[in-house]
Amino acid sequence: MLTRLARLAPGPVVRWFARPYVAGGSMDAGLDVAHDRLERFGALATMDLLGEGVTEQFQVVQNVATYERLIDRIGSESRFAEAKTRPSVSVKPSAFTCGERESAFEHIELLARRAHERGVAITIDMEDRPWTDLTLDWAVGLYKQGLDVGTVLQTRLNRTEQDLERIPPGMRLRLVIGIYPEPESVAVLDKRVMKDRMVEYASVLLDRDCRVEFGTHDEPALERFLREVAPKAPDRCEIQMLLGVPRRPFARKLMAGEFGVVVPFRLYVPFAMSWDDATAYLRRRMRESPSMMWLVLRNLGRAKRA
Ligand SMILES: Cc1cc2nc3c(=O)[nH]c(=O)nc-3n(C[C@H](O)[C@H](O)[C@H](O)COP(=O)(O)OP(=O)(O)OC[C@H]3O[C@@H](n4cnc5c(N)ncnc54)[C@H](O)[C@@H]3O)c2cc1C
Repeated sequence: MLTRLARLAPGPVVRWFARPYVAGGSMDAGLDVAHDRLERFGALATMDLLGEGVTEQFQVVQNVATYERLIDRIGSESRFAEAKTRPSVSVKPSAFTCGERESAFEHIELLARRAHERGVAITIDMEDRPWTDLTLDWAVGLYKQGLDVGTVLQTRLNRTEQDLERIPPGMRLRLVIGIYPEPESVAVLDKRVMKDRMVEYASVLLDRDCRVEFGTHDEPALERFLREVAPKAPDRCEIQMLLGVPRRPFARKLMAGEFGVVVPFRLYVPFAMSWDDATAYLRRRMRESPSMMWLVLRNLGRAKRA
């Protein structure tokens, strides 16, 4: 039923659903939201262009050009002059190829070098299973060349425990449960196990001198991370959430240190270059992941969100 709704819902309805979660239909709108959340709540941002899963070469060219401009703007605008609070950028490899996966790398490498020159950190997001090895190889390789490149591991995957060993000391690693449904042959299906693994793997990474970005909205899991793990090395920890999802009262407590240590808090800020692009993207995501719509529906009308 939800899949049909995602296909048939008129654009304005999709847009209405999406408004809290998408910063807008232009780069200006995206950067304004990032700056607003920094000013109002002290929240950092990582900027994401909605544009993965491309099918035409001209979309690859557009995505590269948009990220180049985004990096240049973040690196040069006076409102982002302070390095510690400057937004980072997040890229999804499938935004940079409509053919072989490997061909995305030339663009990602180019963007990572440009970001490095302009003092902007970059994170290579993790997509579904066929991307895992490539993404890890690219991110670790670029980090070892001295670039501020981080990546993501998904705790639902059973392989992740071994993959932790591939992350070198000092590198940024975002831990998430993973958004892509994966089969039982390679993944756990129980969310509680995924969350327990997040806490456990965060501890392993800190012991290996890595930097941990804990990406979840699960309040008990966040509290466990802050009380049990982050005190080991708070200067190497960060909490990350998606724009529009965190409850403001909880985010305030988090930033006031009510759960032990205070660590930086970063919002993942998706934007599109037009509302038509955003609507097409969101329709696709709602079709692929109807559970997202349930989450959105459940959140409507609850406490204000950051
Ligand atoms: C900063 C960040 C970056 C991410 N990057 C990646 C990535 O690179 N690769 C990847 O596979 N996954 C990524 N994810 C997604 C992640 O894997 C999870 O799918 C997502 O965070 C939901 O899981 P949860 O841990 O918040 O727990 P859940 O148990 O799913 O959610 C906890 C509560 O948060 C709320 N909630 C969670 N998600 C949403 C939502 N989308 N809309 C509305 N409410 C919601 C609900 O109220 C829910 O009850 C990222 C997540 C974050 C926060």
